[in-house]
Amino acid sequence: MTINIILLGPPGAGKGTQARRLVEERGMVQLSTGDMLRAARSSGTEMGKLVADVMDRGQLVTDEIVIGLIREKLEEGGKGFIFDGFPRTLAQADALGKLLAEMGMKLDAAIELKVDDEALVARIVKRAEESLAAGEPVRKDDTPEVFADRLREYYKKTAPLLGYYYATGDLRQVDGMAAMDEVAAQIAAALGTETAQA
Ligand code: AMP
Repeated sequence: MTINIILLGPPGAGKGTQARRLVEERGMVQLSTGDMLRAARSSGTEMGKLVADVMDRGQLVTDEIVIGLIREKLEEGGKGFIFDGFPRTLAQADALGKLLAEMGMKLDAAIELKVDDEALVARIVKRAEESLAAGEPVRKDDTPEVFADRLREYYKKTAPLLGYYYATGDLRQVDGMAAMDEVAAQIAAALGTETAQA
């Protein structure tokens, strides 16, 4: 069974972590617009230069750019997509619906990782410290100051998607504050598949 899902939730909610698990366990394809934009930045493309500043300020890049990125990836094909960090605006949600329909695909669920805002800041600080200790580059937008702006962007522009997907009947909610394995189990249950052999 091929399923296409969106992971929703504020920055630091654990979308990337859960997406990577789904890739490993089910062979799904993770489409993270944040990762795509960071790759564009580090390869120095025109688009990368264009978005670097916006990202460092914790703001959203234009709908046009991210929709273009997602379109390209969908055209490459794959077995079940996990949209991670996309859509982030109502316009992106509409565009995704159209793209999927054009390709004869549909969305199976939009899973919200429900988290406590205060705990998020602590998670972000931890993520930055872990990267430092591992000698990996630290994301410029993983500072408490920029994080506050990212959270504001989330509530202003992305949180309305919860109502959008509630209305379409696709919204599922899981406890993003639970341990990583428990969150994964709740996601599997929300998808109606208790095991990895979906
Ligand atoms: P993320 O890794 O998902 O937290 O994304 C990092 C940054 O990339 C965000 O703060 C935005 O500046 C940008 N970004 C990622 N995905 C999107 C999107 N779907 N729409 C607009 N901006 C995005």
